[in-house]
Amino acid sequence: MTAIKKIGVFTSGGDAPGMNACIRSVVRTACHHGIEVTGVLSGYQGMIDRTFTALKPENVNGIVHQGGTILFSSRCPDFKTKEGRLKAYENLKAEGIDALVAIGGNGTFTGAKIFEEEFGIPSIGTPGTIDNDLYGTDMTIGFDTACNTVIEAIDRIRDTAASHHRLFFVEVMGRDSGYIALNSYVASDAEAVLIPERHDDYESMMQVLGGGNELRKSGYIVIVAEGEESGNAFDIQKKVMERFPHFDSRVTVLGHIQRGGRPTCVDRINSSRMGMAAVEGLLSGKRNVMAGIINNEIVYTSFHDTLTKQKPFREDLLSMTQMLLKSV
Ligand code: ADP
Repeated sequence: MTAIKKIGVFTSGGDAPGMNACIRSVVRTACHHGIEVTGVLSGYQGMIDRTFTALKPENVNGIVHQGGTILFSSRCPDFKTKEGRLKAYENLKAEGIDALVAIGGNGTFTGAKIFEEEFGIPSIGTPGTIDNDLYGTDMTIGFDTACNTVIEAIDRIRDTAASHHRLFFVEVMGRDSGYIALNSYVASDAEAVLIPERHDDYESMMQVLGGGNELRKSGYIVIVAEGEESGNAFDIQKKVMERFPHFDSRVTVLGHIQRGGRPTCVDRINSSRMGMAAVEGLLSGKRNVMAGIINNEIVYTSFHDTLTKQKPFREDLLSMTQMLLKSV
């Protein structure tokens, strides 16, 4: 049994496709258990500004296929101050909100953890970020959609690369994580990938480009993770052109197109499972944890572990990249 009567749900930090499916799941699961839901608009900013909206099951019709977040998101510096959090607490109490579902990334969970420690409002997080950099889940909400957007873009770029025998450097998102780059590399026909998790990949790329077959007709594509240690796509293009001036090269920075768009089936299902697990976790007394999916099972990981532990990297995919490189 639980004392929770009303849950607040919010999205915070970078938006990610699948957040709306998660919101839908939170609202419908809570309703199923007889719990009210309030949507907090614009993340922590909405707690401070008291921008709340009641969410009934019918309010989340027709959102599962939309990217972005119907609750809006923001970066809220005021929530990093004690005064800001006090104001947020007073507003949540006045609204009758007993617990929170926080859909976001590490920053969002840091805020939720501090908030619980100071004011006792329990939170459960769901991992909303395309970067897939959170410990405690195999995939974050939006990651699969972002990878699909990237491979579609690479397939298109391949047409031009092949038609002109060009070398393309395609920069993809992921902050300090190479997950989007690595998955997109394995799932596409790119020749090389540069990711922060690997330190010899720059030299491997140089070998691939240096050993190029002149008769090769499809051009070259190098995927560059934005957190790559040897520089961004323009820096790397410059260095490569110094060594291999014969290449006709171009840079494409995919940028924010990776954030938006219709969520894939995988993202919709994962988000729905996590949203449901967040509500049911709160009702069973859990708090300060993230609801993730590991080996296809719901797993609750403490915010402490999520914030301090390093997500294990996909060594299997990493070694596959070496094998694929060798076959160029
Ligand atoms: P993400 O959740 O995607 O990592 P951010 O790092 O921007 O995105 O964090 C989202 C929000 O979480 C911030 O705008 C801020 O309101 C809140 N937040 C982040 N770090 C802290 C902190 N140390 N204390 C309190 N709130 C924080």
